[in-house]
Amino acid sequence: MTPFVFPGISTRVVFGEGTLAQTGDELRRLGASHALVLTTPEQDAAGETLAKQLGDLAAGTFAEAAMHTPVEVTARALDAYDAAGADCVVALGGGSTIGLGKAIATRRGCDQVAIPTTYAGSEMTDILGETENGEKTTRRDPSIRPETVIYDVALTLDLPVDMSVKSALNAAAHAVEAIYAPDANPVTTLMSLDALRAIKAALPDLRKSPRDAQIRARLLYGAWLCSTALGYVAMSLHHKLAHVVGGSFDMPHANTHAILLPHTAHFNETGTAALDPVAEIFGGSVGGGLWDLAEASGAPLRLADLGLSEADLDRASEIALKNEYENPRPFDQKDIRDLLQAAWEGRRPD
Ligand code: NAD
Repeated sequence: MTPFVFPGISTRVVFGEGTLAQTGDELRRLGASHALVLTTPEQDAAGETLAKQLGDLAAGTFAEAAMHTPVEVTARALDAYDAAGADCVVALGGGSTIGLGKAIATRRGCDQVAIPTTYAGSEMTDILGETENGEKTTRRDPSIRPETVIYDVALTLDLPVDMSVKSALNAAAHAVEAIYAPDANPVTTLMSLDALRAIKAALPDLRKSPRDAQIRARLLYGAWLCSTALGYVAMSLHHKLAHVVGGSFDMPHANTHAILLPHTAHFNETGTAALDPVAEIFGGSVGGGLWDLAEASGAPLRLADLGLSEADLDRASEIALKNEYENPRPFDQKDIRDLLQAAWEGRRPD
């Protein structure tokens, strides 16, 4: 058996429907008494309602969370945190809001309760990406990881279907890469495989029944597993390419992940036996099966539809080769250019 290190999983997880009501108990469990509730402007009302429910446990609300955690927003949030005399943060929302919670927690050394309302998967990780003067930098540190995560299926019932589909495929990308990660361990591998089973079973029916609590529960369960895997092992080619295409060409994060995943998985399935159990889940072909899942779920399939040109693919394949990073299968610029071409055209990998 391959030797491994299992780092342990330190975050407490509360999962169910209606679990938002347990936020007060979870704060008391952490010994916190003044929580600053964070949301985006779009989820402001939900933040206010939660603060009211928390009563004296809430120090106030801050509803300015924004994509990619801009440092100027964090500075305003820190002022609000200090002015309110807060001793912890509650982040209610998607990856943007949870990112703001992490940015505050790592600077103030306070505890965080994350309550995710998308499947993006920031909540279980020790990763924080922040933007300053248009530059995004990412770091990992134990102080970044939330102490408690509350998953409430009810909060996801109204997540728009298109966003749900892209977000779930974004999560699936964490699971696929966790399976062949250089520091993979049996626990994150088992979690990743079950995540892929859950997402594959639930996602194609979501468009028909977007408020079906069973479907939503399976997707949120899958999202938890994917986030955990992302939080404890290193990512490879897929995440690197998504970062290049998303960052250098300003393409939307979740769409880019969703479109690239079948192609990066297809490229790597011939390079590692680690993906064999994933092939079993997806009817024999990881890349083909993921593409079928994306198509059946109504996900975007073509980079061309995001406005990327073929000339951009040349540049993207150059940029992607600039830094070295782990991947189960070696690659050169032509491999990456071919992979991007297939994703640009939206071809089913076979
Ligand atoms: P988001 O948090 O930016 O949310 C997008 C929009 O959807 C916001 O307006 C939000 O208020 C709204 N929204 C969220 N949940 C909703 C719901 N249930 N119903 C209706 N509207 C809702 O988007 P995201 O995809 O969750 O997160 C993306 C960000 O997370 C990116 O910046 C990405 O880099 C980051 N991320 C970080 C990690 C990490 O480990 N650090 C992991 C994954 C993603």
